[in-house]
Amino acid sequence: MEKTDVLISGLGPVGAALAVYLGRLGISVMAIDRDTSVYPMPRAAHLDHETMRLLHLAGGAEAVSQASQPLSAYEFRSRDGSLLMGFKPGEVTTATGFPQSSMFHQPTLEHALRARLGEISGVSARLGHALTSYSASDDGVIAGIAGPHGAYDVEAKYLIGCDGGQSIVRRIARIELDDMGFDEPWLVIDARLKDGRERLTTIGLQHCDPRRPVTSVPMSPGRHRWEFMLRPGETPEEVVGDEFIDDLLGPFVDPASVEIDRRAVYRFHAVIAKEWRKGRVMLAGDAAHQMPPFLGQGLCSGTRDAANLAWKLAAVLQGRADEALLDTYQAEREPHVRAITEMAVFMGKVVCTQNEKEAAARDRDMLSKPEGERFVVMPDTIGLASGVQRGDVLAGTIFPEPWLETGEGRKRLDDVAGLAPILLFRDGGEAAASSFRAGGGFAMALSDPSLLDEGDRVKSTLADSEAVLVRPDRYVFGRGEARNLLAAWNAYLASGTSPA
Ligand SMILES: Cc1cc2nc3c(=O)[nH]c(=O)nc-3n(C[C@H](O)[C@H](O)[C@H](O)COP(=O)(O)OP(=O)(O)OC[C@H]3O[C@@H](n4cnc5c(N)ncnc54)[C@H](O)[C@@H]3O)c2cc1C
Repeated sequence: MEKTDVLISGLGPVGAALAVYLGRLGISVMAIDRDTSVYPMPRAAHLDHETMRLLHLAGGAEAVSQASQPLSAYEFRSRDGSLLMGFKPGEVTTATGFPQSSMFHQPTLEHALRARLGEISGVSARLGHALTSYSASDDGVIAGIAGPHGAYDVEAKYLIGCDGGQSIVRRIARIELDDMGFDEPWLVIDARLKDGRERLTTIGLQHCDPRRPVTSVPMSPGRHRWEFMLRPGETPEEVVGDEFIDDLLGPFVDPASVEIDRRAVYRFHAVIAKEWRKGRVMLAGDAAHQMPPFLGQGLCSGTRDAANLAWKLAAVLQGRADEALLDTYQAEREPHVRAITEMAVFMGKVVCTQNEKEAAARDRDMLSKPEGERFVVMPDTIGLASGVQRGDVLAGTIFPEPWLETGEGRKRLDDVAGLAPILLFRDGGEAAASSFRAGGGFAMALSDPSLLDEGDRVKSTLADSEAVLVRPDRYVFGRGEARNLLAAWNAYLASGTSPA
């Protein structure tokens, strides 16, 4: 029987990112997908800056950057066009240096991640191979797989279900979903702009008309998406017809000026798996949670799952951490996902109001504020509430990414540090830094001339502290004396409990 450290079921964007991370960390991975090619139609259209950084660590951000465009604003407008609520991501300077909101093309990302996978020894990616069954014990999992040449078994130390909303891994594990009770049918129309047009707008719009709520967003250059909420009684068959779609598009664009790539009715959900880990089996991405699309955070959340889980699995498999560390995965990720899902549900309820009286009350309420106050600051990051040192306001926030001057030109710190934890320290922290390096960490003195700390962002993160320790998923673990930080980090790896 074939053996692997980690078997990943599902090579969507989340499974592919996880496989790249694990492969880069030296873990043997078998990643399978029941389909033989990437799902060709775009689903996710929006990525936030943190996700772009995490995708950069997986080798996918460059392809995405080339096939994406920043979103200047995201606006919720009433039937008559008045601004109800808005965000201006184009005006935000982010910690990672990537645009706060990028509009992109999901298949481009998936192709880039799969190409990266092919370059990593130790990762075997198999397309056209479906997980059909598994049995789990305290030591691992025996999985049954149906491949193009017949059925076979694989023995893995861990099985990760990245197999989407209908996850077979989740179903076999009998993991229930917590349903937050918000699901609505929408027609999604993805279109290419004709005559070489790159965009209709750089603004994402929620047209909150109770007669027919509509979403209109740019995607990658040359593409645009419209989504139309179905009215009670409308059927999926009826709304995907040519004439119906021309009537829907008419108020927004000349239907003759676009070529429709995809027309499909989908029902979004707000669900979160009750357990993300059952012994040797774990869930990530849509298998673990699905949320309404109003914040464009489904794939972003799945990428954060992959980044959280990968280094923990590697540390446990390589004997640098106790298995208890794996229990921190759900503890750290679920509150983040829940908060984002609640926000997406809130926004969805603003948009999906089909009752005229309720919509009028909503409009009166939201329009009672001066227009300037209706633009709110997009929450940059929810951050981590556990798995970091307590009592420090910066612990759990995204670490600002500096650049380094290397022999091969300027590089992001992430390019040099890879997926290691990072210690940046002032004079006095050298001894702790050596022992950190010996344990596989990346350590660098603040005084190192190759560190290009534009705007003193790193210095101001350290403030008066001797050192800052950054987790491999790029959240600040804590600040303080270097040796104390190191001791707290090692205690966290050894027990999985958040350090005081
Ligand atoms: C209309 C729409 C708009 C969206 N907009 C956004 C957005 O703007 N921003 C955002 O972040 N997210 C968005 N999302 C969500 C985003 O597309 C998903 O969250 C993301 O695709 C989830 O990735 P995943 O890898 O977890 O799952 P999937 O992409 O579903 O991949 C799962 C993979 O598992 C494979 N698989 C299934 N069963 C098996 C099996 N038994 N054996 C082997 N393989 C199997 C499938 O073939 C598939 O390749 C949107 C989704 C939709 C539908």
